[in-house]
Amino acid sequence: MESIASNLAEIREQIASACRKAGRREDEVKLIAVSKTKSAAAIREAWDAGQQEFGESYVQEFLDKQQDPLLSSFPLEWHFIGHLQSNKVRQVAGKVAMIHGIDKVSTAEELSKRAVQHGLTIDYLLEVNISRESSKYGLDPSSLLQAAQECFALPNISLRGLMTIASPDPDQARREFSELREALDRLRTDAPEPARLTELSMGMSQDFEEAILEGATIIRVGSAIFGWR
Ligand SMILES: *Cc1c(COP(=O)(O)O)cnc(C)c1O
Repeated sequence: MESIASNLAEIREQIASACRKAGRREDEVKLIAVSKTKSAAAIREAWDAGQQEFGESYVQEFLDKQQDPLLSSFPLEWHFIGHLQSNKVRQVAGKVAMIHGIDKVSTAEELSKRAVQHGLTIDYLLEVNISRESSKYGLDPSSLLQAAQECFALPNISLRGLMTIASPDPDQARREFSELREALDRLRTDAPEPARLTELSMGMSQDFEEAILEGATIIRVGSAIFGWR
């Protein structure tokens, strides 16, 4: 089996190559290593290989890992990328650099309330169900603008961009990534602080190169780094 360090090196090469192809700088794309279901020891291995940003999907699993003695003394940057229910918001508020999967105004309201309590500003992304698959979380693209308008008004949270999970077919995925980029462009024309709306969190192990070609600023890669789940 390939080691985590060599997988990471290979992915960084692929990111560099996709950036060259897209005429973009490598530092325009942040790699999040998605470590859900993987052990603290595996995360430590990635950290030792220079990876700093990690993505988790399940609240309790995330809290356990964040406190794990193998990791707790290092400044890892955690991203919550899973679907976040309102009643779990309290547990992650203030513990992660960014929350990617907000797909309801009511969840954003809860996040705002907790951010005010903590005296923090919390960065988040709205998840969009670009592929309109009923099995997926995310706002319907047609309701995005309205939802975002309501979110902009909420104190102590800062909408930084959009997140999606694309269809399995790579050509279809590429069209969806392009749609998400257009949706972000439209959102910017309506936003009170358009300069803060910079992030497109899109692209996973199977499709991150397509996502980079379409403007991803954050890619979320799990199995290509840590092995299959
Ligand atoms: C699991 C997961 C990923 C990583 O998926 P891989 O195919 O393993 O790279 C990315 N984003 C989200 C939201 C996930 O849940």
